[in-house]
Amino acid sequence: MVENDGIRVCPIPGYGLGVIAERAFKRGDCVLRERPLIHFGKPQSSAADAPRQAFDMAELTAIIKGLSDEDRSQLTALHDRDQKPGQAKTYIGIINTNSFGCTCGSINDGACVCIIASRINHSCFPNLTRYWSHSEEVMCFMATYPIQPGDQLFVSYCDSNATQAVRQKTLTRYGFQCQCRLCSLTGHALLAHDAAAVTFEVGP
Ligand SMILES: [Zn+2]
Ligand SMILES: [Zn+2]
Repeated sequence: MVENDGIRVCPIPGYGLGVIAERAFKRGDCVLRERPLIHFGKPQSSAADAPRQAFDMAELTAIIKGLSDEDRSQLTALHDRDQKPGQAKTYIGIINTNSFGCTCGSINDGACVCIIASRINHSCFPNLTRYWSHSEEVMCFMATYPIQPGDQLFVSYCDSNATQAVRQKTLTRYGFQCQCRLCSLTGHALLAHDAAAVTFEVGP
């Protein structure tokens, strides 16, 4: 199930594929609600303090085996950040690259891969925030800023409140150099933002 009226996956110069708004969204509007193609690592019990399951290859193998051919080809079309030149993608690489954590309040509900949401590129200053609806088993994306038709949609793959150095270290795992507004800061503006980030990390 996908509710994505008004957005479109398409090639974007400098990004490969990305997702574009085809209409305006107000701050707080739901932009995308998507049921995951795969959802794994759910805790055995729904208690808030249930231990998070380790990455379970047997579970993943069973889930991938159970997919329809069409769903499996959608999964294998996604990016694998660990793919080496001349080698095939791996499911584990695809899942590491594209999974979102499914945290709903205090409920840790494992992680998932969504086909459309996987195409949303990263910004440290994103125009979308996301949450997992445990009751509906749906990943929801909402506008954090007004979005105009033609704007690219972004989520953050890292902690946007961290310093530039910490963010860029996290993002090297994805194999790109972020060029968002925050990563483009220099001089006094960068010092000011990083100082606020450090304060945030350390706390009052
Ligand atoms: Zn950035
Ligand atoms: Zn759930």
